[in-house]
Amino acid sequence: MNRELHYDAVVIGAGVAGLVAATRLAQGGARVCVLARGVGSTHLAPGTVDVLGYAPDAVREPGPALEQLAASQPGHPYALVGAGVVADALDWFVATVQAGPLPGYGYVGGGLELGGRYPSALGALRPSALVPVTMAAGEAQQLGRLCIVGTPALRDFHPSLCAANLAAAGIDARAVPVELELDRADANTLGVARRFDDPGWRARFCARLAPLLGGEDHVGLPAMLGLRDPFGALADVEQRLGRRVFEIPTLPPSVPGMRLYEILSSALRAAGGRLVLGAEVVSGRWSGGRVEAVVTRAAGHDRVYAAPWFVLASGGFASGAIELDSHWTARERILGLPLRGVPPAGEPRFVPEYASEQPLARAGVAVGGDLRAEGADNVLVCGAALPGAAPWREHSGEGIALASAFRVAQVVGELAGSPAEATA
Ligand SMILES: Cc1cc2nc3c(=O)[nH]c(=O)nc-3n(C[C@H](O)[C@H](O)[C@H](O)COP(=O)(O)OP(=O)(O)OC[C@H]3O[C@@H](n4cnc5c(N)ncnc54)[C@H](O)[C@@H]3O)c2cc1C
Repeated sequence: MNRELHYDAVVIGAGVAGLVAATRLAQGGARVCVLARGVGSTHLAPGTVDVLGYAPDAVREPGPALEQLAASQPGHPYALVGAGVVADALDWFVATVQAGPLPGYGYVGGGLELGGRYPSALGALRPSALVPVTMAAGEAQQLGRLCIVGTPALRDFHPSLCAANLAAAGIDARAVPVELELDRADANTLGVARRFDDPGWRARFCARLAPLLGGEDHVGLPAMLGLRDPFGALADVEQRLGRRVFEIPTLPPSVPGMRLYEILSSALRAAGGRLVLGAEVVSGRWSGGRVEAVVTRAAGHDRVYAAPWFVLASGGFASGAIELDSHWTARERILGLPLRGVPPAGEPRFVPEYASEQPLARAGVAVGGDLRAEGADNVLVCGAALPGAAPWREHSGEGIALASAFRVAQVVGELAGSPAEATA
């Protein structure tokens, strides 16, 4: 018989939503365990906090736009959590990163007051509320003459394409390719980031790049300024090149996203929470309308985790937690919870225009106003598992993950009282 492990709360998923919800619960005194099949979209996404970039036009002031969105779309996650919680979650996030394991590294930007726009790898200007300090100097309004640096060894980052598109947007940008000696196995931003952790390698990189620069006052690099001390690497490179330097998010693997994962998982550990990776949750044990325990399957055996509260932070279609089967029926795979926002049978699920709103985008686990899943009194839902948003179109994914996770921990606190009561 399987030994049953008991916690005050079990969180399913280790993306931004799961790690934030678990950390907040642990900081409130709960004994928390995070179960995750693997890491979440941190390792793929840019590592910025995009709260609301488009609604549907480009948003300059996310705060008022968010209030309008909430008023016009009562089922949207921002309407359920409220603008005040979004603001509190952003404040908590900034403080958590600052107190984290990477010295000097932080998130900066206009937050809800004034969204900034930062170059993407394709040379588009992406709206973000908060960005890592290593991206800050790329804010479009501050850019003067700009040099985009890349290396042919990084096959997914083309400085000439990035610079040409920025130039088309009115930014004085040119491309500078620089040769880097990389092993084949290192030929991605993660491999280069590991090199940037070495001050000697950084010095050689700057010595090679400096003669190629002209009168530009800004240098943009693919996001690869190290994993251990990116702030120190940024300061060092800026000093050696004598100009402002900034990172540009790249295709996966995402170095800023990996830093973010490191910061959030370390905050969870510091608060006393436990994180179990490689633990796929395959089912739940129900009693009436409550989940008593969930079962993980790993290395050929099952393990049972019981708790009075469960947080479903397992993501949406991208993570596989919600799937569309061969009959085009959508289902939540872990607990079989009802979904909302799935287009009715016969209606289109997708439209051919990639950048248009996809009809299936707003599908997610059906919840009430307090983010409790319909049909499961003690399961709360946060992040990309929630219905009602079009995060890719709105540029709102990380803002929703952060704010809804923050809110979920508040709701558990309100409903359970103290964690001791929750387990009684
Ligand atoms: C490639 C990519 C680019 C993105 N770009 C942006 C962007 O530019 N701006 C923006 O705001 N947002 C972006 N996002 C979206 C944003 O990253 C996510 O919406 C947001 O972080 C929500 O994360 P989450 O924690 O809810 O889910 P996820 O990060 O998807 O995490 C889900 C977690 O659940 C776990 N899980 C799933 N099923 C199970 C199971 N059965 N058992 C145990 N664990 C399970 C997974 O292993 C994972 O740990 C992007 C996402 C991707 C994938």
